[in-house]
Amino acid sequence: MAELTLDTVTKVFNDGDSNEIVAVDGVDIDIDDGEFLVLVGPSGCGKSTTLRMIAGLETVTDGEIRLGNRLINNTPPADRNIAMVFQSYALYPHMTVRENMRFGLEESTDMADDEMTSIVEETAAMMGIEDLLDRKPSELSGGQQQRVALGRAIVRDPEAFLMDEPLSNLDAKLRATMRTELQRIQEDLSVTTVYVTHDQTEAMTMGDRIAVLNDGVLQQVGTPLECYHTPNNRFVAGFIGEPSMNFFDVTLSDDALTGERFSYPLPGDVRSSLGDATEFTLGVRPEDIEFHATKSSVGEHDFECVVDVVEPVGESNNIYLRFADDDGPDPDTFIVTISGMRNVSSGDRVVATIPPDAIHLFDDRDGRAVK
Ligand code: ATP
Repeated sequence: MAELTLDTVTKVFNDGDSNEIVAVDGVDIDIDDGEFLVLVGPSGCGKSTTLRMIAGLETVTDGEIRLGNRLINNTPPADRNIAMVFQSYALYPHMTVRENMRFGLEESTDMADDEMTSIVEETAAMMGIEDLLDRKPSELSGGQQQRVALGRAIVRDPEAFLMDEPLSNLDAKLRATMRTELQRIQEDLSVTTVYVTHDQTEAMTMGDRIAVLNDGVLQQVGTPLECYHTPNNRFVAGFIGEPSMNFFDVTLSDDALTGERFSYPLPGDVRSSLGDATEFTLGVRPEDIEFHATKSSVGEHDFECVVDVVEPVGESNNIYLRFADDDGPDPDTFIVTISGMRNVSSGDRVVATIPPDAIHLFDDRDGRAVK
């Protein structure tokens, strides 16, 4: 086990027409010994390339990767003592489960035969696949194959696990079960883990910390709650959270933030952090907006709205609202999430309250959070 450090790691590809593609751009991350770090971001942001550089499957253009005290930039993959688990499982089809699990051990250690047998059997029991040891991968379900792939990584007792969307081929229910199981195993084994996903839920529920990438650039590293409650910038704010944060374009004039359909009083404690910026994006999470079917008086943080669509999602409802004076054919809507069953229908007139302590403000020049 060891800590894993990425120090201004960069990867530049050449596309064949001599165009350079900067897939990963100066990424700095310190992953603690035993930590579960989730690397998350939209398609093409450089997640897999980062992971592949750590595994040694891709060269590093610039920067340093260290495992423990070792610089591993030029260490061959087989000598890194890192195990990787892929979305496609990558099991050998002609080998049984037992042979697949033993294979990594035979390649990387000079362990005695009966020791290998007992490690494979113990790990299979831990993964709940002890009855499947003599089957071939084609005789297993997707979930069972993924357990074998994980088991094969675990038997090697690596210093780090790298996982590239390992659950994405499983159905939703199995994915949820495997999420918890993987977390439990990682916690028990306490092996430094980097887990790549574009799935929000996985990022928010599995990681000790998450690292958010966009266009090859690291946007934020923090606990899921830090990234959720105090995003560094508009990208992180919009990427983390489901449904997404609501955004409104606003301009600062006098002491108000004025949007196309509303004016919001500038909270008193914010002025000093705005610098000379005038154009902002005001953000507010759907669950931070208060929803009133009726309200006796309408204050400065209250907005008269009309219900556009009600979307029930289990215990809660996502209610799409538009401002009451926005009655064109294609109104701008924003989402309010309310819990429990409520008698709300499309066309109802309601009041939405945006509390001052719930708003986020992003400077439009660079997207940086200023509140
Ligand atoms: P996804 O979630 O879709 O798997 P990702 O975040 O893992 O995406 P990468 O696969 O790391 O993204 O790709 C990052 C960028 O590098 C993309 O623009 C991709 O097209 C480019 N890229 C990746 N591999 C190569 C390669 N071998 N040659 C050229 N460009 C590449």
